[in-house]
Amino acid sequence: MRKEIAAANWKMNITYPQAENLIDDILQQNHNLNHHRLVIFGVPYPYLKMAQDRVHNNDQIHIAAQNMHHERNGAYTGEISAEMLHAIGVEYVILGHSERRLHFGETNEILAKKVSLAMEYEIKPIFCCGEPLEIREAGTQNEYVRKQLEESLFHLQPSQLRDFVIAYEPIWAIGTGKTATDEQAQEMHAFIRRLFAEKYGQNIANYISILYGGSIKASNAKAIFSQHDVDGGLVGGASLIAADFGVIIDSLKKDAEV
Ligand code: PEP
Repeated sequence: MRKEIAAANWKMNITYPQAENLIDDILQQNHNLNHHRLVIFGVPYPYLKMAQDRVHNNDQIHIAAQNMHHERNGAYTGEISAEMLHAIGVEYVILGHSERRLHFGETNEILAKKVSLAMEYEIKPIFCCGEPLEIREAGTQNEYVRKQLEESLFHLQPSQLRDFVIAYEPIWAIGTGKTATDEQAQEMHAFIRRLFAEKYGQNIANYISILYGGSIKASNAKAIFSQHDVDGGLVGGASLIAADFGVIIDSLKKDAEV
């Protein structure tokens, strides 16, 4: 059984007290979580410790950083290392979000380094991939995503890909209100799983959680999550509203199956 995940990406939003309230609100909601149905909060760096402390008794709710640097340490003013995240118990890190690729020049090569470093420090990447609009319109999205995955992940050993988490986020659907159709999401997720099956074998591929991201809302989560190869979502805007994110969590499949 692979993991179903509702992951929040708060980006550069909300203040510290708002963040405390948002986590508390979600914790107070009654969700049917278990070892295979998880929630992850991707929070800004200054909130990581507070968020960790709030969820530390809960095996089904985890905290993610939204980035980390690709070098181990050194003269990189303003940056955060894998070692620092590990030292405060952060378990997940979002890597390769399209906003980081676009605004901070993150390449597939840099991301390959980040992925390796995160795993060395036992931090699980939530690795983002996805194509821009012009690529989708040209119909070459599979080749585009294949390159992102091959260049950033295919150096990993099979054992490192057990329970790995990928987020497919078509860039044209992020923060635009325009969601991929359920069929478009399923098609790409099945393609991604096939790529891993070809490279690493079906068994490894079956256990990779592939999340969809791009304007997931309380109203569309259930339909998208019900697609066979969609194992939950990475959620931006709607994860900032406790009631909406609660509905999204409850939209995870009840009996996730391989
Ligand atoms: C995201 O930031 O990863 C995202 C999918 O944002 P939104 O849900 O707002 O489109």
